[in-house]
Amino acid sequence: SLEQGPEGPETPIQVVLRVRPMSAAELRRGEQSALHCSGSRTLQVSPPGGGPDVVFRFRAVLDGACTQEDVFRACGVRSLGELALRGFPCTVFTFGQTGSGKTYTLTGPPPQGDGVPVPPSLGGIMQRTFAWLLDRVQHLGAPVTLHASYLEIYNEQVRDLLSLGSPRRLPVRWNKTRGFYVEQLRVVEFGSLGALMELLQMGLSRRRSSAHTLNQASSRSHALLTLYISRQTMSPVDPGNPVGGKLCFVDLAGSEKVATTGSRGELMLEANSINRSLLALGHCISLLLDPQRKQSHIPFRDSKLTKLLADSLGGRGVTLMVACVSPSAQCLPETLSTLRYASRAQ
Ligand code: ADP
Ligand code: MG
Repeated sequence: SLEQGPEGPETPIQVVLRVRPMSAAELRRGEQSALHCSGSRTLQVSPPGGGPDVVFRFRAVLDGACTQEDVFRACGVRSLGELALRGFPCTVFTFGQTGSGKTYTLTGPPPQGDGVPVPPSLGGIMQRTFAWLLDRVQHLGAPVTLHASYLEIYNEQVRDLLSLGSPRRLPVRWNKTRGFYVEQLRVVEFGSLGALMELLQMGLSRRRSSAHTLNQASSRSHALLTLYISRQTMSPVDPGNPVGGKLCFVDLAGSEKVATTGSRGELMLEANSINRSLLALGHCISLLLDPQRKQSHIPFRDSKLTKLLADSLGGRGVTLMVACVSPSAQCLPETLSTLRYASRAQ
C-alpha cells in the first residue's frame, strides 16, 4: 500500500510496469513477443537469439490483456489521491519509449474525430482519478477548493496549454513559500467533473495539434497536468488552516536513448543532444535512492521538469512511475533500458 504513515512510503517512488498489447503493425510484420508476465509482479524477458532469461520485479506487472480499469486499480491511484487530499504533493508519471503506451495509459486513445468523445471504459488513469476525486470531494465533510493547470515542457521551455490566446513561454521561479513555480501560469478553478474534462481536452488538443506538424517534438515534450487541492482542516487545534495537496500527472517525453543513467559526467555529455529534463530526472532519482542521500544534494535545479517535480520527488511527496513497454522483440533494446531504469527507481 502507498499509505505508510504521514511521512509517505519508505521508498520515494513506486514502480508499476505496463506491457501494451502487440499493435496491428507489429502483428502484420510478424514480430514475436519477447516478454512473459509470469505472476502479477514478475516479468520474464527472453532474448530472441537464445541465452538466459532475465527477470524483473515490480510492485505490479500488467500485461496486454489488462484493461484501463485494471491498470488504475493496480497502480493504487486512489491511495495517492487520499494522500493528496491530506495535503501531500503526489505525482504519477509514465515513462517509456515513443509508442510504448504512455499517453494511452494516462488519457486513453486519441479521440476518433471532432466531437466524438473517448468512451469512459477506455479513459486512462487521469479521467479515472478525476471521476474518483470529484466524487470523493462531494462526500467529504470539509469544503475543498480545486484548481488545475496544464503545461508542456519542450526544449527546456514551458508552454501554458490552458492560456487564453496562443500558448506563451513562461519562466520557472522559486521562492521560500511556494518552492518552484511557473510564473503567470493559468490556474483554473473548477467545481465539476465536466469542467475538469474540458480543461483536459483543451490541453490535449493543443498538444495534439502541434503533434501533427512536429511529431518529433511531441515525443520529446513533457506534459504536466496538476490538480491543486485546498482543504479547510477540521482540526480543533488549528481550525481553518488550509491544507494544500497536489496531484500531478506527467506524460513524459519518449525515453529512447535516455534510459541509461550512468555517472554524472556521462549524463552531462549526452545532455546536449538528448532531453535534458529526462536525464536530470534519472539523475535525481538515483541520488534520492542513495542510502547516503541525507548528505547528498539533489540537483533539482538541473532541469525544468525536476524543478516542477521537486516537491513530489523529495521531502514529503509520493511518486508513482508507470513504466510502459512494447512486447515486441524488435523493441527489446529500448525495452531493456526502460526496464533497467524502472527497476533502478524502486
Ligand atoms: P506513447 O505515448 O508512449 O508514445 P501511445 O500511448 O501514443 O504511446 O501508444 C501508441 C499507440 O498504441 C497508440 O495508437 C495507442 O492508442 C496504442 N496503445 C497503447 N497502449 C495500448 C493498450 N494498452 N491497448 C490498446 N492500444 C494501445
Ligand atoms: Mg505520447
